[in-house]
Amino acid sequence: MVGVNSCRACGSPLQAPFLDLGVVPLANNILRRDQLQCQEPKYALATTYCSNCSLVQLTENVSPKDMFEHYVYRSSYSDTMLSHVRKLASELVVRERLNDKSLVVEVASNDGYLLKNYIEHGVPVLGIDPAANIAEIAEKEAGVPTLVEFFNKDIAQGLVNQGKQADIIHAHNVLAHVPDPNELIGGFSVLLKETGIAVVEVPYVRDLIEKLEFDTIYHEHYSYFSLIALNNLAVANGLIIKDVQRVEIHGGSLRVEFSKPNVVASPRVAEFLAEEQEAGIGDEGFYALFATKVAEFKQEFVKLLQSLKDEGASIAAYGASAKGSTLLSYTEIGRETLDFVADRSLLKQDHYSPGGHIPIVSTEEVLKQKPDYLLLLVWNFADEIIAQQAGYSEQGGKFIVPLPELKII
Ligand SMILES: [Zn+2]
Repeated sequence: MVGVNSCRACGSPLQAPFLDLGVVPLANNILRRDQLQCQEPKYALATTYCSNCSLVQLTENVSPKDMFEHYVYRSSYSDTMLSHVRKLASELVVRERLNDKSLVVEVASNDGYLLKNYIEHGVPVLGIDPAANIAEIAEKEAGVPTLVEFFNKDIAQGLVNQGKQADIIHAHNVLAHVPDPNELIGGFSVLLKETGIAVVEVPYVRDLIEKLEFDTIYHEHYSYFSLIALNNLAVANGLIIKDVQRVEIHGGSLRVEFSKPNVVASPRVAEFLAEEQEAGIGDEGFYALFATKVAEFKQEFVKLLQSLKDEGASIAAYGASAKGSTLLSYTEIGRETLDFVADRSLLKQDHYSPGGHIPIVSTEEVLKQKPDYLLLLVWNFADEIIAQQAGYSEQGGKFIVPLPELKII
């Protein structure tokens, strides 16, 4: 683990953190039974703001190798995510007039959940992902050719040397995952054709702050982006922001299109930047009260769970997610409160959650064990999960939704 003294985007000196979530285990580091007796590595988790380029970022770096080479998150386990990218791919095939001579590249292509949609349209694709276990699934199940690498400028140059340049690069929920975002954006600059676009989705820092989504902060997310910060990164790497929109996925994200400077940008970009300035996002005062609000949430959350336990209720959780790890680690809730965590992923079942060591079981266990309350750790997919678990609510089960507003449904 390495302390960061200067901004990972622009190199300016950094200030003291505006939020400190303590010393916690890695959010995706689920444990096998035989690992429960071992000392779990824990790392400081705190965020700071760069007053020069506006980038919100972690104050410490855990090596990406320790986090991404054996990855357990599969995008295909979320129906919301699948329909989100299916629609996007169909739109882009038409809008960008893609054909069998085009190339669509995805950085962090995971199990091929996105690129397989382009294959259906006859458009050649290339996935790039460092997790060999997930890349194998992408090739076998989705037929997506996948390069097992961390994408950066060198990898981009290597592809260009082989005559490969991209019409579209997708990078969804990955820009935050690289310690130096210039490596990724600089790589886009190398790999894109003159008219190409890089479609980037990142959780939006405005939603993080305004909706109190502190559980999206974990060691894998080195940076938290505003359009102001993204625009500074684009310019530093010879690109422009061509277009921007807010999308609902992951509790509120930005979809940003990067292109070469010869492309005409939408007027939405300048409007959006002005709106962010007006809201104070380019000013450290915007982040000042966040830590107090997060501490207040912790108090309320712990009090609610405690009062339910005092009444003799049983509580389990749904979604052994990274955000769930942050929530439970920070609020110090473990197996004394939660009987199990149900999760659809076979890679996670029969394991234990980081920190609290709560057993992870299949989602069928919800109906078998019928806990009185089910805490939705993946509250960003609350509607989807509540619909899937209709049988549970019909039998009187209740859902605890922790964020953006703590409530029982
Ligand atoms: Zn900076």
